[in-house]
Amino acid sequence: MMAADIANPSVSIQDLSLNFGAVSVLQTLNLDVAEGEFIVLLGPSGCGKSTLLNCIAGLLDISDGRIFIKGKNVTWEEPKDRGIGMVFQSYALYPQMTVEKNLSFGLRVAGVPKEEIAKRIARAAEILQIEPLLQRKPSALSGGQRQRVAIGRALVRDVDVFLFDEPLSNLDAKLRSELRVEIKLLHRRLQNTMIYVTHDQIEAMTLADRIAVMRGGVIQQLDAPQTIYNRPVNRFVAGFLGSPA
Ligand code: ADP
Ligand code: MG
Repeated sequence: MMAADIANPSVSIQDLSLNFGAVSVLQTLNLDVAEGEFIVLLGPSGCGKSTLLNCIAGLLDISDGRIFIKGKNVTWEEPKDRGIGMVFQSYALYPQMTVEKNLSFGLRVAGVPKEEIAKRIARAAEILQIEPLLQRKPSALSGGQRQRVAIGRALVRDVDVFLFDEPLSNLDAKLRSELRVEIKLLHRRLQNTMIYVTHDQIEAMTLADRIAVMRGGVIQQLDAPQTIYNRPVNRFVAGFLGSPA
């Protein structure tokens, strides 16, 4: 597959392969994501979406290839030094800490000054409308509220790139569509790069600037939603998007 024609990609994945033992999960995969772009990785369960995201985040050591973020080769950088924030499906909040502590914890560890932490939390709380929840524990929050806090934790870190791994799949249909809209508004407001994993076609169609349709560790098609829908490159893509042909 050809690398995208992007001059200064925010994220550039070059010939990335990942094997678990003898099993090849990602195969010489190439992907350039433009600055400020919202890319959705879409594909059926087991196709390698989470694995790819974890490689970008630095949570998995790759078998071959290189990963650049903002022009810097981060292939062997620690996750915390990559300028990324990640939001998982299972909120991964600290249960014993209040929302405010959940938001500030990583910043305190990183030595960010107190006043700066307060400023960032106030901004994130305003953007995500979680101001009234700051003194609560996660156990006193709904699923949707927990996921807002999880997004807030990425937000306060002031990162260049957001990675989302099926952030809405634990929520009911109503909350899912609400939060989908909020994530879209968040992207409009922040205009940062987002890479978003889902197996949900509607999420992909409504959120993405471009969708990367994956199957068996390979990107089958990388295009704008309308192009993928109207001109799928093969029957798999057509079938997965539910488009005619
Ligand atoms: P997706 O997120 O698209 O559902 P994953 O990236 O989680 O898919 O998994 C891709 C493939 O890699 C699957 O076949 C899965 O079984 C396999 N896999 C994932 N993690 C591991 C692991 N730690 N060890 C071995 N195989 C794994
Ligand atoms: Mg997954």
